Amino acid sequence: MNACVFCRIVAGEAPSTKVYEDDTLCAFLDIRPIAKGHTLVIPKQHAAELGDLDADLGAEIFRTGHRLALAMRGSTLSADGANLVLNDGKAAFQTVAHVHLHVIPRRHGDLFGFAKGFLLRRPHDPAGTAAAITAGLAALDGQSSARDVEGKQ
Ligand code: 5GP
Ligand code: ZN
Repeated sequence: MNACVFCRIVAGEAPSTKVYEDDTLCAFLDIRPIAKGHTLVIPKQHAAELGDLDADLGAEIFRTGHRLALAMRGSTLSADGANLVLNDGKAAFQTVAHVHLHVIPRRHGDLFGFAKGFLLRRPHDPAGTAAAITAGLAALDGQSSARDVEGKQ
């Protein structure tokens, strides 16, 4: 069995609530979310730390985190912003040795809820949360196709 829990998630050997997947990356809900919608973006190929990660793949991870942050704003999560955080190495409190970008939705005035979430780390309706994020991603895709059509007219 692979010792890396995120590699097991990629292989479908461990459960996760996925919100996005392509050939090189996947994104799923954090099992102990700080806030509703807290998502992790990971490369499918194992890389323990940034020093092990291809730089182009790192850029793809950020691109996906960027899209997820926008999708969370446009979704029923009604995010007003997001924290995108990557803890690189034990010195930076990285606890899972497979590179991951945290995307944590934020709302105006959520400081108390955020601090509480930081302490409690309780899941919130994972299926409903994932549905909200995937709908937000689909809405973003719709907006970019509409822009493409407008650009061609
Ligand atoms: P780090 O401190 O390494 O930046 O964050 C690791 C994150 O991975 C934590 O927020 C933790 O809750 C999350 N995590 C750890 N194990 C699992 C797991 O098996 N599944 C999921 N979905 N998240 C996990
Ligand atoms: Zn791994």
